[in-house]
Amino acid sequence: MGCSVAKLFVVSGPSGAGKGTMVALVRDRLPRLGLTVSATTRSPRAGEVDGKSYYFLSQDEFDRKVQAGEFVEWAHVHGHCYGTLASEVERNLASGSSLILEIDVQGALQVREHYPDAVLVFIKPPSLDVLRERLVHRGTESAESLELRLANARQELELADRYDEVIVNDDLDRATSELVGIIEKYERN
Ligand code: 5GP
Repeated sequence: MGCSVAKLFVVSGPSGAGKGTMVALVRDRLPRLGLTVSATTRSPRAGEVDGKSYYFLSQDEFDRKVQAGEFVEWAHVHGHCYGTLASEVERNLASGSSLILEIDVQGALQVREHYPDAVLVFIKPPSLDVLRERLVHRGTESAESLELRLANARQELELADRYDEVIVNDDLDRATSELVGIIEKYERN
């Protein structure tokens, strides 16, 4: 192995494109990667743990952190606020670990303003029909939330060409290997 440098990778794409699953599999294959815990104002789902899945904050707590400049990026997504705390990013980069941020499209483009060397990777579903099927199958969304996520997905797909890399998640193993390859490629450069 040659010399490699710690890099900041940002993975985003429509809800249901499979980015959460892909990032979890990439972490199994590259355990040295850091992962940040985001903050959100949405309520925990069954099985989610505060401080592990997310930092679950009240709207007031979230707003105070925005005012205090504690976020690298934050965005309104599906009716809630989500953000990446600068402390989470700096903690990882300071320890020399490359880092994956799994965040929405609006946030990804803000990260590039703070970290111009960040590598932005867009995960696309094979089609909007497949995306709908996946979200229905996941069973975590109400009908209203499902429609909101699909409407957002249509808008997000139009921004894919502003990313450094685009992966179509047609097959989970193949797409995960492609993401591993991209990470290794940028770390070498
Ligand atoms: P979920 O509610 O399903 O956990 O996440 C909904 C969306 O919020 C996903 O598209 C996810 O990428 C995005 N998200 C999660 N954490 C962050 C964050 O820290 N910042 C931004 N901008 N989006 C986030």
